[in-house]
Parts: sequence; C-alpha cells; structure tokens
Amino acid sequence: MKENTLIIATNVNSSTLGTKDVIKIENVELSQEQMNLICLVAPEATVSLIRDYEVVQKPDFNPPQSISDISSCPNPNCISNQAEEKITSQFELVEQKPVKYACEWCKREVTGEHLIQNS
Ligand SMILES: [Zn+2]
Repeated sequence: MKENTLIIATNVNSSTLGTKDVIKIENVELSQEQMNLICLVAPEATVSLIRDYEVVQKPDFNPPQSISDISSCPNPNCISNQAEEKITSQFELVEQKPVKYACEWCKREVTGEHLIQNS
C-alpha cells in the first residue's frame, strides 16, 4: 500500500477569509460521497484537487439530501430506537447552513456534526 502524507496547517493567512485551516492529503482523491461527509462537519470547507502542483478541480459539494444508517436518532422514544427488529435510521436534509437533518420517523432535528460523531 502506498503511504499518504497528511499535512495539517492551522491559522494560515488567506486573502479572503482572514485565516483558514488547511488539511492536505497526498495521493488521495476524495469521492463525491466523502466530500459530502466533510460538508456535514465543515459546511464552509472548500476542497481543491491538485495534480502536478496545479488546481484542476474545485468541485462544489453539498450535504447529501438524505442519510441512512450512519447514526441513530437522538430521541430515545423514536421508533427507530424502540423496535425489536432494528429499523434503519433515516435523516432528511432540512437546512444547508448550518447543516441540519430531521429524523424520518420522529422529525427530531439533528446537526450534521451529531450524525458524524455518533456514526
Ligand atoms: Zn427519530
């Protein structure tokens, strides 16, 4: 397996944002799905794909419309937490910024961060 260099820099000066944090991963191209997950925890993040020192792609990415089965509902009374046979948790996007989802079963709202932390 090829080793990947991971570089994390914080408080880098940026012309538009003041300072920013940068995570650089070498030899990795994120799938659309992976970029969508970054969006859940960092809605302001931008992702650039750099090949041979040149930015070749700055894709738009958005939180997915619905997420299933990565996290359980925070509502203990929710049917997805009650059933004897496990019901797949399902969350629908209700707000882009900040990222908010609602449980498909009980409509309890959760943040994108919650979904990632409890996944
Ligand atoms: Zn629920």
